[in-house]
Amino acid sequence: MNHIGQRVKVIDQEITGTIIRYDGSKFVVLDDDRNDWAEEGEEGVLVYRASELAPMTSKQRYLRDPNFCPECESRNITAHQSTFEHTQAWQAITCDDCDAEWHDLFTLTSYELTMEASEKAV
Ligand SMILES: [Zn+2]
Repeated sequence: MNHIGQRVKVIDQEITGTIIRYDGSKFVVLDDDRNDWAEEGEEGVLVYRASELAPMTSKQRYLRDPNFCPECESRNITAHQSTFEHTQAWQAITCDDCDAEWHDLFTLTSYELTMEASEKAV
């Protein structure tokens, strides 16, 4: 069921990753968010029993790496125009292999000031 290279989610946790080794009775998972916690030179792996892991759903995998068709898994997809409306945006995507169409949905989460306001005469 679980195999090397499989994308998995830890049950009841937000942790996702890829199985990279089988370590006796447990699976060694390369954490997708390892850059947030692994020290330099550290591999960024976590170890789980098979019962703690579930295969990532198509949607979970897509939200981590939106470069495939959620219907047929093809990587031959085409992004079309984006639409922005208030705090939401969406982009139409089509699959060149199975003709599925979908929208990637975006939500404004914050802003980043890139230039301080200049002094103005009052
Ligand atoms: Zn497709």
